[in-house]
Amino acid sequence: MGFENIPGEIRAKKIISGALKTGRIANSYIFCGQNVDQIAEFTKEFAKLLNCETACGKCLNCTKITSGTHPDFIVVMPEGKKSIIKIDRIRDLKNRIKIGPAEGTYLVVSIMNADSIEIEAANSLLKMLEEPPQGVVFVLITSRMDSLPKTVVSRCQGVIFANQNDIEDIDAELPSGSDVWSLLKFSSSLSESSSKEAERDKLEKKLRILSAEFFRARKLRESRIVLNAIRDIKKMANTRLLMDRMSLCLGGWIDG
Ligand SMILES: [Zn+2]
Repeated sequence: MGFENIPGEIRAKKIISGALKTGRIANSYIFCGQNVDQIAEFTKEFAKLLNCETACGKCLNCTKITSGTHPDFIVVMPEGKKSIIKIDRIRDLKNRIKIGPAEGTYLVVSIMNADSIEIEAANSLLKMLEEPPQGVVFVLITSRMDSLPKTVVSRCQGVIFANQNDIEDIDAELPSGSDVWSLLKFSSSLSESSSKEAERDKLEKKLRILSAEFFRARKLRESRIVLNAIRDIKKMANTRLLMDRMSLCLGGWIDG
């Protein structure tokens, strides 16, 4: 069991498996990807792994999380006609999480479509993210990280789900323009250890073309972001991380 059976998302699995292995679990995560339902499933498996070493699927913790009856797995959904997360819901949550986990080791709060949170509720949530009770882990699920308040984003560890296959393909076409998802997909097609000189040269060439494209279109901000990435290619060991960062900057999701 566990999330190895959920298709794709190799990068996200690696990050979360690493955290579980070392016991360095962040207090709050943003899981960002296009397929939020799949990410919700992933989050459920994460909650199981936090409360059962193998996410066996058979013990009391696992079965209760699966059926949605575990007191330590809380799912917050947008509500009402406008489909928003309101302040009242966050206030209830605040009272509940004060006491920490009731039955398990970790209390996991999964916030679905977190970008639909109203501003007052986001401020209240922010306080919880700043001083979370012991054993509480927040997971904010969204397909639009740029719609979340920057103050919230900065409190969370971001994990990107780009629906990638783990194929090495430096020769794949680099998508033009600043479509974040296509760029992230390209990024995840890179081998994690693209440390070979030849591969880096190839990537640099592609990025120079992209930068020139932006320049010609008078998109100077974008052009500068790509140039910064080119500058860092020689310094950074992990080209995937570099490309992720560049993509998120281009999409306006993080500051470059
Ligand atoms: Zn179990």
